[in-house]
Amino acid sequence: MNAPISRSHPSQSEDVQSLWQKDRDHFIHPFTDFSLFHEQGCDLITDSDGIYVEDAYGHRYIDGIAGLWCVNVGHGRGEIGQAMADQATRMAYFSTFNNLSNAPAAELAAKLAELAPAHLNHVFYSCGGSAANDATIRLVHYYFNRVGKPHKKRILSRNNAYHGTTYLAASLTGIKSNNWDFDTLDHLVTHLSEANLYRRPEDMSEADYCDSLVSELEETIERIGADNIAAFIAEPIMGAGGVLVAPDGYHARMQAVCRANDILYIADEVVTGFGRLGHFFASEAVFDTQPDIINVAKGLSSGYAPLGATLISDELYEVLSTPQGPGGVLSTGFTYSGHPVSCAAALKNIEIIEREGICDNVRETGPYLERRLKTLAHHETVGDIRGSHFMLCIENVADKTSKALLPVEARVGDRVAFEAQQRGLIIRPVGHLNIVSPPLIWDRDVVDRVVDILDESLAATSQTLK
Ligand code: PLP
Repeated sequence: MNAPISRSHPSQSEDVQSLWQKDRDHFIHPFTDFSLFHEQGCDLITDSDGIYVEDAYGHRYIDGIAGLWCVNVGHGRGEIGQAMADQATRMAYFSTFNNLSNAPAAELAAKLAELAPAHLNHVFYSCGGSAANDATIRLVHYYFNRVGKPHKKRILSRNNAYHGTTYLAASLTGIKSNNWDFDTLDHLVTHLSEANLYRRPEDMSEADYCDSLVSELEETIERIGADNIAAFIAEPIMGAGGVLVAPDGYHARMQAVCRANDILYIADEVVTGFGRLGHFFASEAVFDTQPDIINVAKGLSSGYAPLGATLISDELYEVLSTPQGPGGVLSTGFTYSGHPVSCAAALKNIEIIEREGICDNVRETGPYLERRLKTLAHHETVGDIRGSHFMLCIENVADKTSKALLPVEARVGDRVAFEAQQRGLIIRPVGHLNIVSPPLIWDRDVVDRVVDILDESLAATSQTLK
């Protein structure tokens, strides 16, 4: 069952060897199994163009993960590079504390307010998704302190949610293995069940399942007390936790319960924002919710520069923007809040998404990708293929009927990803899952090529597992 996954490279040029050595000796990679990494080496990605990336040996791959759910407009966009270079040359950085500002930060805030649901008109900048979530929770606590409800502190999150890895964001994260041997701020967070249609109790209809999840929220509020709960945070479609699409009506019903209990609803749209589901924001357009706060990062700048943002409702802003007293300030923020080069990248990125009708492409090509991917369901190891538009996932299992998983040592996700890479496609293994989250510029021809590669890769994986 455990044929090795070999990553031997054909010609180890000296430059590549030297880079690999430096990397191995000094770069602490995120989310990496160092025993395997030291044994197998890494792939140095050196070049990129459109839907492709290239490694140091000149192998070209279709990027099936948009870098890491983020390069939404595709690679090698010279005009984003140029906008960043122009801004860096003119004024690379200056503070935005107090009364200072810069043009790209101001323009971008106004653009985000225009694109977001009508009541979200205020933007707090950070440097990425974790920082956006972290800053949000601090702002939410501050808000409730200011309105005389200091006991409203607890945040409701969900098992298998991914909200990042700063201390607070990691505590919101509900993927158990992410926090192995790390501490979390358990007094601040309660995790509810995730919405997992594939693994819901047998014989339970989707509607009954939805009822049970909403009831769990109501019971949790009853148990902890609405007076002690500040907010509920949810990804519209759970991403790293397995691309889990909630039952119909789930989000709107969860929000209604929150609203009835004076609990803020935070949508983490770090992945779903900026076109991945065919709209700039999925909350309202796809899931019929009006969050009090939406957090974005990744596709906001298509990964060309680090940037995150918290979009805040008028109602919350009114409180946040009122000084505590004479000399009082909203004393939170980062050196790089509203970084002009990152904001310039985001503005150009948004211009491209609008000009090229990239959301239209996702709405047109996404359902085709879903349909074509689902033709792979017959493979021996494939238990479920799910997701929506350009956010999809294959769940590998040992047994389709019992849905039992293969042993961890089989590393099935790694195997499928390895076979795909051998055939010119990069997809992402996460345990027994394989995630497909491409740049939003794939067309039907690319989809067909990708599905052919995955077809061969799944067949080859089944062989190596025998
Ligand atoms: N929220 C969601 C839904 C994410 O998927 C991620 C990252 O994948 C984050 C937050 C954290 O973002 P970052 O890695 O930019 O800190």
